[in-house]
Amino acid sequence: MEPFKIHILGCGSALPTLKHHTSSQVVEVRSKLMMVDCGEGTQVQLRKSRIGFTRIQSVFISHLHGDHCFGLMGLISTFGMLGRTSPLHVYAPGELGPMLKAQMEMFCQGLEYEVVFHAVDTTKCQVVYEDKSLTVSSIPLDHRIACCGYLFREKPTLPHIKRDMIDFYHIPVCYINNIKNGADWTTEEGDVIPNARLTTPAEKARAYAYCSDTRYMPALHRMVEGVDVLYHESTYDTPNEGRARLYYHSTARQAAMVARDAHVGKLVLGHYSSRYEDEKVLLIEAKKVFSNTLLGQEGQVIRL
Ligand SMILES: [Zn+2]
Ligand SMILES: [Zn+2]
Repeated sequence: MEPFKIHILGCGSALPTLKHHTSSQVVEVRSKLMMVDCGEGTQVQLRKSRIGFTRIQSVFISHLHGDHCFGLMGLISTFGMLGRTSPLHVYAPGELGPMLKAQMEMFCQGLEYEVVFHAVDTTKCQVVYEDKSLTVSSIPLDHRIACCGYLFREKPTLPHIKRDMIDFYHIPVCYINNIKNGADWTTEEGDVIPNARLTTPAEKARAYAYCSDTRYMPALHRMVEGVDVLYHESTYDTPNEGRARLYYHSTARQAAMVARDAHVGKLVLGHYSSRYEDEKVLLIEAKKVFSNTLLGQEGQVIRL
């Protein structure tokens, strides 16, 4: 199976701590590397992860709080110093566009590659990136400022041909695509060979949803239904539910409620408040609602 991995670079919240870095991840699908959020310190985390800087083709920013985007300018500058020539695509709320332009004029004159900015409408659930094997869609979230999550979804592939059956029935090459698309085969004698005997089903298309930062959204599960892995912020525990609501964040229990209602495969917690010496308290309360939950950690690689 082709690789589909999440490299967690940072899963703390806004205040710097010795334990956690600010938000950043790299989503690896087949040969593509896409960064999600880029908090301060992301470059060091990238170095530690041994992910090749130059292979990152795009950065998706959820919102313009510093713990999600202060690392972007430094990263763009470093790409320039490393001699990057391929374009870097940045997807973010539209307000970032003019700021990025001004910063680049100030710090990145003579950059030898292009930074292509794509304004994302955070109020809509829509495809913001697409290629032949993948779509990335925005997920509107409920935060203090414009904010969206991102849903990485593989496109379904066609079933596999059973080569020995194709040879056995002397099916011509020009007909293979019809078989892949569900056609049966009729022999010269008039026998119909059903498609199921000629193919094996394709692998299930996989999906990953990144949801940070947000208040608990009871209807969010509809937008992330059935994903293999859901990363959902869990800044607080239940005793701090009022604070979570006030500051437009979620508790670990609420993250688990979304995971449960969306029937996801696995829930990954993150965006921890610096008040927790040990985030096990968050894990315990989430597991009571959704058992297949794990604590996100820097350096972790999650395979789908
Ligand atoms: Zn944040
Ligand atoms: Zn925020």
